[in-house]
Amino acid sequence: MSVNAGEISRLLMERIGKSELSADLAEVGSVIQVGDGIARVYGIENCMSGELLEFEGGDTGMALNLEEDNVGCVLFSSGNNVREGTTVRRTGRTMEVPVGSALLGRVVSPLAIPLDEGGDIITDRKRPVEALASGVTARQSVKVPLQTGIMSIDAMIPIGRGQRQLIIGDRQTGKTAIALDAIINQRDKGVICIYVAIGQKASVVANVVTILKRNEAMDNTIVVVSTASDAAPLQYLAPYAACAMAEEFMYNEGKDVLIVYDDLSKHAVAYRAMSLLLKRPPGREAYPGDVFYLHSRLLERAARLSDELGGGSITALPIIETLAGDISAYIPTNVISITDGQIFLESELFFSGFRPAVNVGLSVSRVGGNAQTKAMKKVASSLRVELAQYRELQVFSQLGSDLDAGTQERLTHGARLMDTLKQPQYSPIDMDEQVILLYGAKSGYLKKISFFDVSRFNKGLLTFVKDKYPEIPESIRTTEDFSDETEQKLIKALDEYSADFKPSTV
Ligand code: ATP
Ligand code: MG
Repeated sequence: MSVNAGEISRLLMERIGKSELSADLAEVGSVIQVGDGIARVYGIENCMSGELLEFEGGDTGMALNLEEDNVGCVLFSSGNNVREGTTVRRTGRTMEVPVGSALLGRVVSPLAIPLDEGGDIITDRKRPVEALASGVTARQSVKVPLQTGIMSIDAMIPIGRGQRQLIIGDRQTGKTAIALDAIINQRDKGVICIYVAIGQKASVVANVVTILKRNEAMDNTIVVVSTASDAAPLQYLAPYAACAMAEEFMYNEGKDVLIVYDDLSKHAVAYRAMSLLLKRPPGREAYPGDVFYLHSRLLERAARLSDELGGGSITALPIIETLAGDISAYIPTNVISITDGQIFLESELFFSGFRPAVNVGLSVSRVGGNAQTKAMKKVASSLRVELAQYRELQVFSQLGSDLDAGTQERLTHGARLMDTLKQPQYSPIDMDEQVILLYGAKSGYLKKISFFDVSRFNKGLLTFVKDKYPEIPESIRTTEDFSDETEQKLIKALDEYSADFKPSTV
């Protein structure tokens, strides 16, 4: 009797299928090809998408492509130990990372392996890196502010807890600086922060950690690092793993978390590299077709939970780098449409010395207004329009040389408003102080002050009010409102202070 090879294997499969060993046999396979951080594995037929795989020799990977006769899997380590023929074991679990408060103050890899000198991370809690975002009924609307301490943002593009606010701009326009200032401002506000570095230079990340430590913002912060030299899969994993760490605090401890993804452009590039290596079909700009889903499923996990579920929140600040200010490119438009607003940073403003270089006209916050305090609303409501008018007038005034006194005055007023919104790095301003400064600038107290004196005037004003009229900031802080009575007191204080202010003799 002649039997061909196919029949033999079928007969063998049948025999094996009947034996008790069948379950185990299907769980172990072997590598048939490996390269560029991708391994093809034969023989793990029941493998799930997203399942964690263990390689002989200790490497780990995640199954991504389930094909007819093999499984395409990405490797999270260097993969040096993985060779053709290496045994692969299924774990039956989807990819997970250790989570919990043991991670606070630490610098870790996306697999929660410590990269600092703080010793082992001891926690018995784990969460899957990919998780469904909470549904509509589990949420409540955004109504508590997340103060960044940056005046132009808190006043005109306010962010609420649970919001997703994009920071977008060309390279070297202060994107990371804004995110770091927002983290630094949370150090005494009980908000946990997670900074995720994706595809950045290791030296830049080291600098970020130093800055956070120096500003005493590291204790309530986790830094999750995947550098440019890490394999693409690790960079791909970083934001999801960090989001799982954030979810632990939101779901299980009812806490507020601020998470910064720096940046998602590099994340998309890492995903493109990984997808091309997995031989997924390329689409527009060679990105795979699901690059929108890549970021939407990540950002959708930001939420403000209902009170029954503990009321915790995740506020997400994704960062996107543009080329020559082009916000209509593929990845920027995707992320703009997923987020609740964007802070647009402009090179031109940055180089002309207006820092943070927020372009107020192109920046929006769609939900944050609900979360803004009454006090801030009162002083900031007309600011956007005033600045827009100033810009218009400025362009117009460049054309003609003769300006009447009224126009000249309006120009100076606008310029002083802009000067007030300038802010050095790492010096967040509290809400009550912002209200005082904005009120002073808006009411025209700076009109007679020269450009050089604005910062000195404002600094002095805050000290003056704190010393002489401590009840003004106190009332704004505790009531979060700016009552008529407080306003009268502030006017009095401003009058006294500006009468005594000595302009510098330059
Ligand atoms: P990259 O595209 O390289 O990631 P970026 O957009 O994140 O850059 P940053 O690294 O935050 O930009 O800032 C660029 C430079 O500008 C840094 O040297 C930083 O110190 C400086 N800078 C940022 N914000 C301010 C500010 N408000 N005042 C003064 N300098 C600032
Ligand atoms: Mg940066």
